[in-house]
Amino acid sequence: MKSNNILISRAIRKVVITVAVSLSLTSAAFATEQTLIINVKIWDGTSKSLSKTQDVLIEGDLIKSIGKGLKVAADVEVINGGGRTLMPGLIEGHGHLQMNGTSLADIENNRNWEELAVRSAAKAKIALMSGFTSWRDAGGMGAGLKKSIDTGVVAGPRIYPAGAFIGPTGSHADFRNFTAPNETFNGPQSSGSRHGMTVTADGVDAIKAAARQNFMQGATQLKIMSSGGVASKFDPWQLDAYSAEEIRAAVEVADAYGSYVMSHAYSKKSIMRCLENGVKTIEHGFMFDGDIAKLMVEKGAYMTTNMHAFSPYLGEIEAIKSSPASARKAASAQLAFTDYIKNVNKYQPKLAFNADCVGFGDSCVKQTDHEIYLSAKFFGNHFALKSLTSVAGEMVALSGSTLNPYFKGPLGVIKAGAYADVLLVDGNPLKDITVIGGNEKWFDAPARDGIKTMRVIMKGGVIYKNTL
Ligand SMILES: [Zn+2]
Repeated sequence: MKSNNILISRAIRKVVITVAVSLSLTSAAFATEQTLIINVKIWDGTSKSLSKTQDVLIEGDLIKSIGKGLKVAADVEVINGGGRTLMPGLIEGHGHLQMNGTSLADIENNRNWEELAVRSAAKAKIALMSGFTSWRDAGGMGAGLKKSIDTGVVAGPRIYPAGAFIGPTGSHADFRNFTAPNETFNGPQSSGSRHGMTVTADGVDAIKAAARQNFMQGATQLKIMSSGGVASKFDPWQLDAYSAEEIRAAVEVADAYGSYVMSHAYSKKSIMRCLENGVKTIEHGFMFDGDIAKLMVEKGAYMTTNMHAFSPYLGEIEAIKSSPASARKAASAQLAFTDYIKNVNKYQPKLAFNADCVGFGDSCVKQTDHEIYLSAKFFGNHFALKSLTSVAGEMVALSGSTLNPYFKGPLGVIKAGAYADVLLVDGNPLKDITVIGGNEKWFDAPARDGIKTMRVIMKGGVIYKNTL
């Protein structure tokens, strides 16, 4: 705890330095801090093997150079990696920091704004201390927590928020009770709407208004619900929720902001319709096949899929366990999605990590660890690690040169000019996924406090953990 305070104060000091530099024309008066990490084998986010032993020089929040005998400042801080693996910080491609509750109904009915805020800040810190230095939020939160993290108030990953989920009445984004009167779609009777977590938008004009509102509130991309889901109440997963015209409305607004649309889509019909109408990232995409793979390449599209949908433990998720309708949906979905893993291995789409946890911090730790394990088990460590780093890094940059808050360099790779978001781990994650937290167990996994084999966690040149 003590070191964390020091780290945060260092982060704040850096902010102070940045402000001072921007106010002064003689910025040379302010030396930029350097950290030299020596004696590490690098996994750069894409390669199939580790590099030979090298040194990495970090200056400010970026990686300055990589090699041997690097020229450094007199007051450089040195970390001896002792031959360990240096790799990019992990990127959550599809998470929900603000979704704190045991189910959508629990969030809607029992969690007020202060509990949501406090729990989401706690969850952000847990994510960072598990090695996630960036986080694409797939709906349910605006930019408040992100701003608090970026200014050093609380510790957490870089966040790309999608703002409120946008979906039609009765969709996967509709958290309301069955008894909610229909004149209050976006009104004060829906807690999810009041908290800016979700918005019901039917038709082109309503979708455009919701999309613009999200961008105005600081979203970096949009999230729409173009098909049904499993954990929600009113929609079969096969539901074809948004028409082509409605999808295009969201894409048109995103295009105008130089950003993109991510869409929750399970069925092939919905996935194809999304891709044909300009959606850039398919969320879940369980009916992925050769036709979809071809169209994704043509459109430069990405996909994120939660592998725990294929876990034997799926039925133990509270939202599914507590709802017979959701349990029935989950069973039918698992039957319909049998070719997914085979097809991903065959067509190798641009797939980013997706733990998709709706829940409290401790349960999301277990779900994420299990998700990492399943990704590696189904697709191999190299593919899983790319989905956690370089592929997800490319994907978040789709938010465009204007809206991307972290525009100074790439994320998810180790190279000169990239953000200094790095992990130092014991062992080789290309051979052993447990060194970054992968766990075969899910609900029965013991509670953990950090990951012992993750020795250093650095984000933007600031060290948040160092047990060397
Ligand atoms: Zn999700």
